[in-house]
Amino acid sequence: MRRKELSPSAVRAFQEIMGQAGVFTSLEDRICYSFDATTYSSVPGVVLRPSSAEQVSRILAVSSQEGLPVVPRGAGTGFAGSAIPLEGSVALSFERMNRILDFSPDDRHCVVEPGVVNGLLQKHVGKKGLFFPPDPSSLDVSTLGGNVAQSASGPRALRYGSTKDYVTSLDLVAGDGQLWHVSEKSGGYDLLSLLVGSEGTLGILTAIGLRLVPVPSSWNTFMAYFRSLEQASVAVAELSSQGIIPTVLEAMDHVTLRCVEEFLGRQPSSGVGAVLFVEVTGSETEVKVLSEKLELTFSKLEQIRFESAVSEAERERLWTLRRSVSPALARVAPTKINEDVCVPRSKLPALVRAIEALAERHGLDIYTFGHIGDGNLHVNIMTDVRKKKEMERVEQCADELFEATWLLGGTITGEHGIGIAKRKYLPREVGRVGMRMFGEVKRAFDEANILNPGKVVPSEPAHGAGGAV
Ligand SMILES: Cc1cc2nc3c(=O)[nH]c(=O)nc-3n(C[C@H](O)[C@H](O)[C@H](O)COP(=O)(O)OP(=O)(O)OC[C@H]3O[C@@H](n4cnc5c(N)ncnc54)[C@H](O)[C@@H]3O)c2cc1C
Repeated sequence: MRRKELSPSAVRAFQEIMGQAGVFTSLEDRICYSFDATTYSSVPGVVLRPSSAEQVSRILAVSSQEGLPVVPRGAGTGFAGSAIPLEGSVALSFERMNRILDFSPDDRHCVVEPGVVNGLLQKHVGKKGLFFPPDPSSLDVSTLGGNVAQSASGPRALRYGSTKDYVTSLDLVAGDGQLWHVSEKSGGYDLLSLLVGSEGTLGILTAIGLRLVPVPSSWNTFMAYFRSLEQASVAVAELSSQGIIPTVLEAMDHVTLRCVEEFLGRQPSSGVGAVLFVEVTGSETEVKVLSEKLELTFSKLEQIRFESAVSEAERERLWTLRRSVSPALARVAPTKINEDVCVPRSKLPALVRAIEALAERHGLDIYTFGHIGDGNLHVNIMTDVRKKKEMERVEQCADELFEATWLLGGTITGEHGIGIAKRKYLPREVGRVGMRMFGEVKRAFDEANILNPGKVVPSEPAHGAGGAV
């Protein structure tokens, strides 16, 4: 179907569905929905804020008839440009669909609308001693719709896995406006797995079933200070080879640590090259045994010291250090290019060496931190998008980082997704056949190509051409 411009009659149809309050047409309002956490932006033609699945269905019926691309949107915290409303698309924002529809503590299960903020769900289910394990560092703002669409993970993913491990069912609206339901109990092909992490390109989520787990009874939280990030990564590889898996195992290199300490007004740690932030949870015995194993492993390496939390307040103090990384880094440079490469844990020391060599070779400021226990490092290139020459070096550096990652058997995205930021690299990652399959899947779910077009797979994939972007 040919794309059309947004017509006055389409705007009137949307206003009939949602009333004036659900439809934003002014430029000022539309600009607020034009960006995410990347450097990309594109102003949508209109912003729609539905309050029910039935409204979403009617919106899609109008959009498919008019050939209007629709871009679903949560809180806009994505790092891949997945929620950017390209080419004046319809931005479909879920801030009014933010209800917890069902919560059954006995079944350890809940059903939520996509606009529910992750952190608010945690507070709600926490009252009954339960939690939803995926904890992206953006959890105070990011929505469960966005978390599911990106299969977000977070510090606890090491022990608990990512969002895909907790979704039990989805209610969706298809590109032509039809409502459908898919559950982990459904027979036939496992469409649930295909939909989680599909970045809004295969269906619009209107309700999400989630599995919850009990809050563990004991914890031990500590920091281990190392002389370098490479040494810290050797420690992680060592833990992995011994099968020692804590709940949380996060790293910060020395520039990131310095920056966070300054941000929080804390004394700078001297002589430290990197830290590992570790949390062990479980029963009292589990925590004791695992903590002893961890300390023994670290003490054999050239680690400087430990700082253990002895109270809830101390634990919160250490978590605050970890959670403050993003706001602290935001002050370093006008632009932060955040790559989330991921390699097998045994290859982490080689990845760290490659990152350090790249920073040196390209003369760039790189701050590295992340979910190192998963093999996932966030490589943040601090730059300024207005400096054209430097941005060329940044792009070259990212290309070389991805090459190094592939050589180590890794992936260019551990959790942030493909969106538009990594679209051009996908053919190299999944190959010609993989790209053809992706194109076929997209066509099967969204023949008219109106669901978040141009994200993940090219907008008009040349049939069987594989690498076309
Ligand atoms: C400071 C910071 C820390 C972060 N930490 C982490 C982290 O630890 N782990 C991690 O995985 N990510 C992290 N992220 C990235 C980001 O927060 C996650 O990808 C998050 O899941 C995005 O949620 P959102 O509500 O902001 O979605 P958006 O960015 O608005 O959208 C993300 C995707 O979801 C789609 N979408 C939204 N709602 C729907 C719907 N109803 N139906 C279909 N598709 C929909 C959009 O089209 C888009 O493709 C972080 C980001 C920031 C800024």
